[in-house]
Amino acid sequence: MSIKQWVFTLFLGLPLFGIAQKKKLVIKDSTRYSLSMIYESLIDFSYVYEEYVELSVLGFSEFEQSIPLLKLSNANAEEKKNILIVGNLHAREFFSSKFVLKFCNAFLYSLDSDKGIYPSARELLGKYNIYIIPVANPDGLKIAQEDWKGIESHKSSIDSIKRIGPFSDWKANGKGIDLNNNFDDGNFEVKHGHLFEEKPASQGHKGAFPCQAIEAKIIQDFVDSIVPLLTLSFHTKGDVLFWADRGTHAQFKGLDTKLNTVVAETCGFILARVSRNPKEYGAGLENYIRAKTKRIGVCVELSVPNGTTAQHPPNKFNSLVWQKCKNMPILYLQELARLYPSYSSIFKE
Ligand SMILES: [Zn+2]
Repeated sequence: MSIKQWVFTLFLGLPLFGIAQKKKLVIKDSTRYSLSMIYESLIDFSYVYEEYVELSVLGFSEFEQSIPLLKLSNANAEEKKNILIVGNLHAREFFSSKFVLKFCNAFLYSLDSDKGIYPSARELLGKYNIYIIPVANPDGLKIAQEDWKGIESHKSSIDSIKRIGPFSDWKANGKGIDLNNNFDDGNFEVKHGHLFEEKPASQGHKGAFPCQAIEAKIIQDFVDSIVPLLTLSFHTKGDVLFWADRGTHAQFKGLDTKLNTVVAETCGFILARVSRNPKEYGAGLENYIRAKTKRIGVCVELSVPNGTTAQHPPNKFNSLVWQKCKNMPILYLQELARLYPSYSSIFKE
């Protein structure tokens, strides 16, 4: 059995039949994707686009669900920069994993077809290795969808965690820690967001110490191993980019401003002001990226606010997210390639 088959059958728990064989666009806009549907799509990609895709398991969540990792690359000798794209750090924000999956599918499709929407896909894959973690918080996604299969034995511990609102509002991981408050960016101790819970909760609890959540630790260790030049971490609600903070903004010498301004203007997003207070902004993945790896990290909030924590319904994905943002990752990659030569010296450590 190849390593790939071993990974799929053992860790993703899926049979090796019914795999799609055709290069086509398969991600359905109006369908709510469960964790197992996401796994199946990734396996399809890895078979159909075998020459460009490596699928592996980055690690396992608190409830031993696989955290899959895709690497999109092509074999050429040129030294390529690493890019990281992350979805669903927050459990309820299912538009974020859907967006990442759909982008991945459209990008792969564009590599071999002139009907693809990204004519620059091939050129970009000559410059970058694109690493994708579509679901950073698989336990949380399952809880938010009340998809208990495979995590039944954890149900009583889940029920013992303070729950604010219905399960569909669940934001934390399976142990009641908000992953995007649990990274070790140097601000963990001062972090005290507007949602704040001393004890594990469905939202607002940062954990007792940095990387207490195994998912945060796994992702942080991976970041340290590849040091991505750019990280895009997708969330939902706001049509806003959180792209800079006072603690790190100066080190980018304006590259972050140029890059994010173009993207915000083109996609109709709000460019948030430079975050002032680590008490509010600290301990997120994007903060860790900027503070500890000194590379560019952006938190992208997909879809308009609707004045509530409830997510938009699945059938709004196309109009609220895809139509507006389908070119966003490409724009980042193109602009970064264009601007990088003038700024390369700031990344020389
Ligand atoms: Zn979020």
